[in-house]
Amino acid sequence: MNIRNCKKCGKMFNYVAGPPICPVCRDEAEKKFQEVKEFVRTNRTATMNQIVEACGVDQRQVEQWIREERLVFSTDSPLKLSCESCGKTIVTGRYCEKCKKEQANTFSAAGRQSEASQAADKRDSGPKMYTFKK
Ligand SMILES: [Zn+2]
Ligand SMILES: [Zn+2]
Repeated sequence: MNIRNCKKCGKMFNYVAGPPICPVCRDEAEKKFQEVKEFVRTNRTATMNQIVEACGVDQRQVEQWIREERLVFSTDSPLKLSCESCGKTIVTGRYCEKCKKEQANTFSAAGRQSEASQAADKRDSGPKMYTFKK
């Protein structure tokens, strides 16, 4: 058993995997996600502000869904996402297909950490969770 406090509501729950969010908050986030997804689908040209206001959702949450590639925007969306590596316009996630492939190659090159992945680490400035094996 691994008991943790929910990052959202602070309640203790039996932690299994993924973000430290309790099942209740996770369900709520999932409902919100479906709402936002539907909104984006029917309002193809909605801006980030419109999404945040119409769905009553946190912008950071929307950005997280984008990074997780759950939220996909149409190519005529005013939300211009760009590849964090080469700057090419993308519709979801953080990198374009080409850079993702290049990264996959980089990561699979065993033994040494390449300059590319070190640069990627530096760009990734948000709070991160590491699991340390003891
Ligand atoms: Zn919770
Ligand atoms: Zn790219």
